[in-house]
Amino acid sequence: MIARSQVAVIGSGIGGLATALALAMQGASVRVFEQAPRIAEVGAGLQITPNGARVLDWLGLGDALDAKGLRAEAVVPMDGLTGRAVTRFDLSRQSPPYRFVARPDLIDMLATACRHRGVEIVLDHRAEALPEADLVVGADGIRSVTRGLLNGDATPQFTGQVAWRATIASAAPPEARIWMLPRRHIVTYPLSSGLLNIVAVQERSAWADEGWHHADDPAHLRDAFPDACGALQKLLMQVEHPHLWGLFQHPVAPVWVTDRVALVGDAAHPTLPFLAQGANLALEDAAVLARQLALHGLADGLPRYQAARRARVTRAIAAASANAANYHLGGPRRVAAHLGLRALGRIAPDAFIGRMNWLYGFDATA
Ligand SMILES: Cc1cc2nc3c(=O)[nH]c(=O)nc-3n(C[C@H](O)[C@H](O)[C@H](O)COP(=O)(O)OP(=O)(O)OC[C@H]3O[C@@H](n4cnc5c(N)ncnc54)[C@H](O)[C@@H]3O)c2cc1C
Repeated sequence: MIARSQVAVIGSGIGGLATALALAMQGASVRVFEQAPRIAEVGAGLQITPNGARVLDWLGLGDALDAKGLRAEAVVPMDGLTGRAVTRFDLSRQSPPYRFVARPDLIDMLATACRHRGVEIVLDHRAEALPEADLVVGADGIRSVTRGLLNGDATPQFTGQVAWRATIASAAPPEARIWMLPRRHIVTYPLSSGLLNIVAVQERSAWADEGWHHADDPAHLRDAFPDACGALQKLLMQVEHPHLWGLFQHPVAPVWVTDRVALVGDAAHPTLPFLAQGANLALEDAAVLARQLALHGLADGLPRYQAARRARVTRAIAAASANAANYHLGGPRRVAAHLGLRALGRIAPDAFIGRMNWLYGFDATA
């Protein structure tokens, strides 16, 4: 149904490359247009949760992911003021495994697989209008031109939160630590290269630009965490080149498809990073879009794709937005929340993973 169709994909991020690969595997002839002069192998770590890993397995990238990714053993909520673990939730029995991956590695494995499948990647080409093709996939990220063409302009709302991302050389066990402090939190996890990925979030009124390329002074990051425990202070002292980005709430795009256009990933549904789902939802989009088009063709497949995705991504985005409030508690509510987490970890250690089953257990390729 999609075989032999001409497909133009705008954007070579994870959403664009995964969709290009999935459609090429269905026999489509695919070109990817990327505005950057080279494939943007920038960025720090990503958490590939089982729902995203299932798509990568389906795309034939399971072994490459195993080679480059690090299997996560646990998620550990930490008291960022004392440095003590509040509890520990086991991830080691997830199937497929939950992994920590460097974004450049994931981009590289997707781009390599695309080229092997005959996908043409055209660099240094910024799309301002829809290219000629049977199908145009708008995978152009948070500032999507394609979303604007389908939906008009929407003004994102500053959430009152900014985030720094950085990597440092540091050995750490294969677990995601969530260091919780009043009005702030820091997530750390190791990558297979021996680096530790750090994302630090602060509530503040002064907003920062939304984007992935804004370098900041490491002193600003350290100044935001003067009361952090010694272990965190030590990590922050090692940060040399942090990037800062402002966290904005975008509405899910009302229109994702026309008779020859589909939006995927952040272009359709930007999410806050507090559930680690930006890349995973983009991977799910790629699989669902390719399968709907293979089964139903363009005319029926495109609306079915949007219908299949909207409720799920809306739920994931709401869950991500709620997490920051839980991490940032202060005063008596913080004490009560930590006691509750500790009790949950003792009495029902699998309850956390059970509660995440709707997210991690989903199979977009089924
Ligand atoms: C450079 C970069 C670094 C990132 N670093 C991190 C990170 O460290 N941690 C993290 O959690 N997430 C990071 N992300 C975001 C994360 O990868 C995405 O949220 C998620 O993977 C969904 O991806 P996407 O493909 O929908 O969008 P994106 O990953 O944003 O990809 C969109 C792509 O489209 C291209 N593009 C945009 N407009 C046009 C146009 N008009 N014409 C042609 N090309 C266009 C962009 O250059 C980009 O390559 C980063 C994104 C980028 C672009």
